Amino acid sequence: MADTAEKPLVLEPLEALKQHFGHGGFLDGQDRVISRIVSGKDGLVVMPTGGGKSLCYQLPAMCFRGVTLVVSPLIALMKDQVDALVAKGIPATLINSTVPWDEQRARLDGMRSGKWKLVYVAPERFRAESFVRALDGVEVSLFAVDEAHCLSQWGHDFRPDYMRLGKALDKIGRPQCVALTATATPMVRADILDVLRLREPFEVVSGFSRPNLSLAITPVDKKQQKLERVQAIVSQHRTGIVYCATRKKVEEVSETMASWGMKVIAYHGGMSDKERERAQEIFLSRKADVAVATNAFGMGIDRADVRFVIHYEVPGSVEAYYQEAGRAGRDGESAVCELLFNYADTRTQEFFIDGANPGAQAIRDIYRYLRDEADAEHEVHRSIEDITDGAGLKNGMAVGSALATLARAGYIERFDIPGKRMRGTRLRKPEVFPEALEIDEAALEEKDARDREKLKAMVEMCYARVCRQQWILEYFGEENADTCGCCDVCQDDGGEDRAPTEEEHLTVRKALSGVARMSRQTAHGWEGKFGRGKIVLMLLGSRSQEIAAAGLDRLSTYGLLADKGSGYVNGLFRAMTDAGLLRVEVGEYPLVTLTDRGERVMRGSKSYRLVWPKAHSPAEAAAVQQLDDHGFDPGLYEQLRALRGKIAGAQQVPPYVVFSNKTLEALCRYRPKTLDEGMAVPGVGEVKAQRFLRGFLDVIQRWE
Ligand code: ADP
Ligand code: ZN
Repeated sequence: MADTAEKPLVLEPLEALKQHFGHGGFLDGQDRVISRIVSGKDGLVVMPTGGGKSLCYQLPAMCFRGVTLVVSPLIALMKDQVDALVAKGIPATLINSTVPWDEQRARLDGMRSGKWKLVYVAPERFRAESFVRALDGVEVSLFAVDEAHCLSQWGHDFRPDYMRLGKALDKIGRPQCVALTATATPMVRADILDVLRLREPFEVVSGFSRPNLSLAITPVDKKQQKLERVQAIVSQHRTGIVYCATRKKVEEVSETMASWGMKVIAYHGGMSDKERERAQEIFLSRKADVAVATNAFGMGIDRADVRFVIHYEVPGSVEAYYQEAGRAGRDGESAVCELLFNYADTRTQEFFIDGANPGAQAIRDIYRYLRDEADAEHEVHRSIEDITDGAGLKNGMAVGSALATLARAGYIERFDIPGKRMRGTRLRKPEVFPEALEIDEAALEEKDARDREKLKAMVEMCYARVCRQQWILEYFGEENADTCGCCDVCQDDGGEDRAPTEEEHLTVRKALSGVARMSRQTAHGWEGKFGRGKIVLMLLGSRSQEIAAAGLDRLSTYGLLADKGSGYVNGLFRAMTDAGLLRVEVGEYPLVTLTDRGERVMRGSKSYRLVWPKAHSPAEAAAVQQLDDHGFDPGLYEQLRALRGKIAGAQQVPPYVVFSNKTLEALCRYRPKTLDEGMAVPGVGEVKAQRFLRGFLDVIQRWE
């Protein structure tokens, strides 16, 4: 059995980066991941799309002896990746069903003789025993599972072949395995660890922070208030998306906005493909500035200058919310996201959850109807509406979900009927009676519970008075998430209005010189080239793709304020704008420039006052030192651990999502008595304090 202990490297990572990939450095998170992979550990990597996941396994592949297998779900994508590697001179190839068997054999032989460093393999290859056997004798140094969420039934892209990968790993002798995905849901992550049976894996969740977005959640009780907010946001920010929960609402809101004279498109799943394509094309070609849409909109849009995203109703999960909000500001410039929150709207989401989770009885009723209606070929040509009525149901969505469940279990298949918009259904096991259907009722119930839990977390977030960005990052499991400095909660949290200290003055001058560096001076004053988003990222020394691509990491001011944190720097920019040191031009892009005053301050003038943003992190670090260390008591630790297990079970999340072992140990040592003291313990942010801390404090108190 291969083990995951340190392996001899044939090349150092930095050397490989230079030699083979030609990048100037690593992007955020990449170095952390790569150093752990080359140390030989199994791992789970969660990074958003575009975060640079491929390099995380491609580079170690060049450092190891032997070959790296990459499991990837899409044939087209696979080919692109291999072509790109080959173009860099890296010996890579692919094996999938489009490759004839004798060619597959030749490629397998090549793996054995060390011809390839990277081989992409389609997941269904592992179905064939012969393929797995053919891997015998191949030195697999790393097994990378890309798009690993495909193995979770609760992900958005379940592929049954991925479920087999755990067994496949066993059969080929358990090489080091790393899973990668952009889906940060705690449950999906737990599934990945479970199915692949990773051994003491490292986990890195990274890159989800979006410091250029200002998130806000505004409570509203009336429709009129919602429309007023929409009007205000559109007139200020112009280009963006209004997400509505239902088709009906999309039509209503888009018509209202059109009646104000705004150029909008409507987009939802009830429109024909042609209508949707036309709407999309109008938006993409900038003939309209606003899209009013259900969540069906977004996958294909590639408009980077979206300046606002409005949620007209509360979405069904934090994941959905953040994915949709994240369509704003993809050019790295600042953008606003506002959720118009009315608790009554959660009923719409509950209706969707009911629809997505038909019970076993409803599934049997639908199956019975299909059997009764089937023709001699065991086919049923009925619309969803007919089936809904025929099976005596009310929620048409439930029929769609039930059909999907039946199809997954192999009882039916769905097919297109030429010339019709409706799809047909074919019974694949017509002999099975409805009573005899094998339905995994426990799994159905579990999914229902998970969906409700997700909605609950979303609502919890709406009521929380905690930095929005921080709340989301902690929910996704990113450690040490900082406050953002620009969400509605951070903005309410204003500090003191006063003249600068020497140190603050220096910080302000550095920030202003960053702005100057990124604009140009003309006879008429400063002319902007960039917005707040990119200027802040540059000053923070961000290793994100858009900064590297624009060459902003080569400016002399790059990383000048890296030690201040994004929350502070964002807050500072807001304060400097309010104090008249900066000007934000309204236009297609909100460009930032120095005012005359700003220029004077940059050159040294100290005659200004600011509402100083709060510096969060250093204060927190100081606070834990004020608590006494009571030493490590295994009995107390055991009780805290038991409570963590209970909470994790009830919330259906892995224990580390509640508190990590390190945090648990710190709670055990410092024995905080109040919520405030608890928050001084490393790993307990405000979010976790609000969600979980109370029970732990009780256990500690009872112990003393
Ligand atoms: P993901 O798979 O996470 O969506 P990719 O691996 O496709 O992301 O990378 C996204 C983009 O970032 C690609 O264009 C890639 O060339 C670029 N990229 C990756 N790593 C680096 C780096 N270290 N420096 C600069 N650009 C990078
Ligand atoms: Zn914030």
